[in-house]
Amino acid sequence: MNFNKDDVFTVTIEDMGADGEGIGKIDGYTLFIKDAIIGDKVEVKIMKAKKNFGYGRLLKILEPSKDRTEPKCIYHKQCGGCQIQALNYEAQLVYKQNKVRNNLIRIGGYQEALIDSIMEPIVGMENPYHYRNKAQFPIGTDFYGNPVTGFYAGRTHSIIENTDCILGIEENEVILKEVLAFMKEEKIPAYDETTGKGVVRHVLIRKGFATGEIMVCLVINTKKINFEEKLVNRLITIPGIKSISVSVNKENTNVIMGTEIRQLWGSETITDYIKDVQFKISPLSFYQVNPVQTEKLYGLALEYAALTGNETVWDLYCGIGTISLFLAKAAKQVYGVEIIPKAIEDARENARINNIENAKFFVGKAEEVLPEKYKTDGIYADVIVVDPPRKGCDEKCLETMLLMKPEKIVYVSCDSATLARDLKILAEGGYELKRVRAVDQFCHTVHIETVVLLQKQ
Ligand code: SAH
Repeated sequence: MNFNKDDVFTVTIEDMGADGEGIGKIDGYTLFIKDAIIGDKVEVKIMKAKKNFGYGRLLKILEPSKDRTEPKCIYHKQCGGCQIQALNYEAQLVYKQNKVRNNLIRIGGYQEALIDSIMEPIVGMENPYHYRNKAQFPIGTDFYGNPVTGFYAGRTHSIIENTDCILGIEENEVILKEVLAFMKEEKIPAYDETTGKGVVRHVLIRKGFATGEIMVCLVINTKKINFEEKLVNRLITIPGIKSISVSVNKENTNVIMGTEIRQLWGSETITDYIKDVQFKISPLSFYQVNPVQTEKLYGLALEYAALTGNETVWDLYCGIGTISLFLAKAAKQVYGVEIIPKAIEDARENARINNIENAKFFVGKAEEVLPEKYKTDGIYADVIVVDPPRKGCDEKCLETMLLMKPEKIVYVSCDSATLARDLKILAEGGYELKRVRAVDQFCHTVHIETVVLLQKQ
């Protein structure tokens, strides 16, 4: 059979890829089809044909999958933030569980039987909506010259109006409406990327779920906004508002925030808790975006570490010390390593406000700090926890971990493909896979967090 551009076929979707795309096969030829989900029978047009595979556009769903559901957000296709909203939540969890399982087998080289016997059921959310505690809305101008906000249409910077993202907090809409009304009334223009003119670029909103405290920060292209006090007067009528600030960003870049914050009203930080650890969050702080699931994720990391109080623990890629502080209460001593100096400053401050004295933090690359400290100080660990970014751990870091011979390694991962790659190296170095569990931190997207326990053989 021949497969050429513009050919139309009927195909049943058998699988879904890493980005949530449907995968179907005709005569051994693989087609990747965006917006088609496992179980759909679809009519597809080939947009790009390679020798053994092609990319198709979904023309029509002939028979919908039993797992198909009506997405709650009418913009889910244009936005691209949620790739799998058309899959019902139960099926999303199955998809994610399989994604982790298959990566551990295909990339990690583990036996199917082993993974199926030890992998625990994925931890989903009871209510998988309105879970994000942070949102950054771009501000633009519509055809009639009015200020608008919403989201960027996939891979562009044109704004599709929507103040009601179902992943965000319900207060987002109220806050954005006040900001837009203020801009309209006081004739404050939105920033225009093409000319570099205008004022308001983004609105950052954050909420401490445990405390209800809300922060609003306007990112602006000028030193000041006219009538700032009028903006403040509008926003402080909204329940929960604790902090209002601006951040000046005059650069023509995709980086959203400026480097400095100027307080307009209220406190410089909002407070939140993950279990009983307190965090002070500023507009520039890194903080996990799904606090409900983060608590479960770090609870699992703690459970896997099974600390008795006598252990020395290294927490690599520690960010603002979330895991470190969580573990410090149960360990003798915790050491954290993180590349961003500001995050380490926050980690130290977080340790201080929680009266945690057995956590020490180092700034630097894990793959440099760890080998160096091992060489000069012969550092020791009973347990090493790693929570690297998507690209996983650097090989140098893994090598030093093996030299340190900790009893246990707890690997928290946001990309199961790089997790599997790294586990293979650790397995060859003598570490046995004991426990695996995925936690759904980013419902309706294809992303999935995984916690793994490795034990020295
Ligand atoms: N565990 C933390 C953050 C994990 S995110 C928390 O839950 O808050 C991964 C972190 O790794 C980020 O903070 C990032 O800045 C940091 N990072 C990235 N590359 C690194 C490297 N080579 N060495 C150390 N830290 C790194």
